[in-house]
This record gives sequence, structure tokens and C-alpha cells, in this order.
Amino acid sequence: MTPSAAELLAHASAKVRDRALALPKVVGACTRDGDTLRARVQGSRRAPYRVAVDLGRKQWSCSCPDEHNVMCKHVCATLLVYQASPATFVPAPAARRLPNVQGWADADVERLLERVLQHHPAVARDWARVVDEDEGLDDEADW
Ligand SMILES: [Zn+2]
Repeated sequence: MTPSAAELLAHASAKVRDRALALPKVVGACTRDGDTLRARVQGSRRAPYRVAVDLGRKQWSCSCPDEHNVMCKHVCATLLVYQASPATFVPAPAARRLPNVQGWADADVERLLERVLQHHPAVARDWARVVDEDEGLDDEADW
């Protein structure tokens, strides 16, 4: 059985919940894929934070830098939107071959690359080699 949003919301502190209550309007791009909810929440940075919540595994993640709270206000706001109107989360489109990184903050791209390195080190190594070869052509001139 899929746990309710309320069950997960119990992990948010009262302060985080208060802040999240002001956020529903900036929660967008809500999709659902099985037990996984995804949304983008506009924060203080130009690029929105990416939130993912796995209702089945009771896990969540957000690309914001908040490491202080067990659950950040973006995840909390996403769950509040889901709780109020589950239909907001439409079925996710078929997986794209590549994420669209346009508009991502550099730190987010770095985070993605770190993930690739963690899970597919060979891919990251091959990729780094290609980049090195490309730059090897004229790096003398740049230095
Ligand atoms: Zn967050």
C-alpha cells in the first residue's frame, strides 16, 4: 500500500511546514510515475529546485542546498500540493534519453556528473577522455 502524503509530511518540522505553506504557487511541473512524485519548485536561485518523492520507499530528495532539515520546504510543499490535489501530478512522459540541462545551475550539473561518476564510472572516464582529446589539440596556445 502506498503511504499517504500525511505520513511523509510528519518528517517536516513545524517551521519547515509553515514556510512550505507559502510555496504551493511555485510548485510546478508535477508528474507522477508509479509511487514517485516529481516537481520543480522555484526557490531563490534562478533555476528551480528539483524535487522527487518516492511514496513507496518513503524517500525524498531535492536539489536545494538545505542539509539542515530532515525534509526541506520544497519537498514539504510538493507533498502539500499532492495531499490537497493528487490529480495535479500527471503521468510522467516517457523517459528522455538525456536530461535537459539548459537553465541548470552549475552546481546542479556538477551534482549530476558526480552521480554519473558514482554509478557509471566507466561512462564518466570515457567522457573525460573525449573532452581531454578535444582540448589537447590547442591547449598549448591557451596556457
Ligand atoms: Zn529543497
